[in-house]
Amino acid sequence: MPAPETTPPPLTYLAGYAAEVQAQVRALLLQGRLGERLQRRYPALHGVRTDGALYDYTMALKNRHLRNADPLSKVVFDNRLHVIRNALGTHTTVARVQGNKLKAKREIRVAGLFRALPGEFLKMIVVHELAHLKERAHDKAFYALCTHIEPDYHQLEFDLRLCLTLFEATGRSLWPEVRTSD
Ligand SMILES: [Zn+2]
Repeated sequence: MPAPETTPPPLTYLAGYAAEVQAQVRALLLQGRLGERLQRRYPALHGVRTDGALYDYTMALKNRHLRNADPLSKVVFDNRLHVIRNALGTHTTVARVQGNKLKAKREIRVAGLFRALPGEFLKMIVVHELAHLKERAHDKAFYALCTHIEPDYHQLEFDLRLCLTLFEATGRSLWPEVRTSD
């Protein structure tokens, strides 16, 4: 009898998900249908191009949902951040919200990759970072706050992981970055 096939290694961005989910994603990738699916669901890039625009966008969400959380001193895109390692993958502590404890001011850094993604994903990551103003760990209370602000939070995080899986497999973005003059 031939030896059983070895299980393929987990997909980097979906390592925490069930084997059946990973198998479905692999199948879509092999059939070349994952991108089409994501593009249909998320057709357009957002228009938040600059750090200033990102600050305004974040403050609007904060004022609406987390008015009493610590003030934000700075909100910027950071091209050095690795999205999963710093934000979503490890589900340990966040390294990205850095506070000056004396002034209780916080800084939010959003991985540069989000500049060139549809608005749903930008909202998801900003909600994630805003929720850390109140809940430091990736625990139940944290995700309850995320889904309170954005009811589709979990679906969006999953779909973001699908986008990253596709980037990794194809080496290109579904939404090539639009270059602006500024
Ligand atoms: Zn986090």
